[in-house]
Amino acid sequence: MKKIIALILVTTFQSCYSQKKEETKTKGIAKTEEDWKKELTPEQYRVLREKGTERAFTGEYWDHFEKGNYVCAACNNVLFKSETKFESDCGWPSFDKAVEGSVKYNEDYSFGMVRTEVVCAKCDGHLGHVFDDGPQETTGKRFCTNSVSIKFIAEGKTTN
Ligand SMILES: [Zn+2]
Repeated sequence: MKKIIALILVTTFQSCYSQKKEETKTKGIAKTEEDWKKELTPEQYRVLREKGTERAFTGEYWDHFEKGNYVCAACNNVLFKSETKFESDCGWPSFDKAVEGSVKYNEDYSFGMVRTEVVCAKCDGHLGHVFDDGPQETTGKRFCTNSVSIKFIAEGKTTN
């Protein structure tokens, strides 16, 4: 009898679990490349969808240090907070930490290098790369991010 109850519990749990998984799947952003092309500027499309890189020192935020949040330019997912931004002299906005769960990491072997690509966890948009040469007094990480992939929202303002 105990075994049966346990079995029922396990199956109930499993079906709940797979249902939940389905929901998250449908909640994910299901846009075609055509949709993205229409919504994003050509430069945003090149960087976010085609994993391009903006030229150093040309972006909007490399020397921008106001208080607020940086969200994904494609889907408004909150990615970085201004207090994690630091001056890195590399010409791109640099953060020592991403908002938990907001980004995903991919191994990137392009250009004969091994790098860790950072993408938005919600829309898979390319943000930049993370390196281990960040500030030692905090995390030691440097999230080297394209300005064009992010949007600054000043403290107290919302994305809408
Ligand atoms: Zn996004």
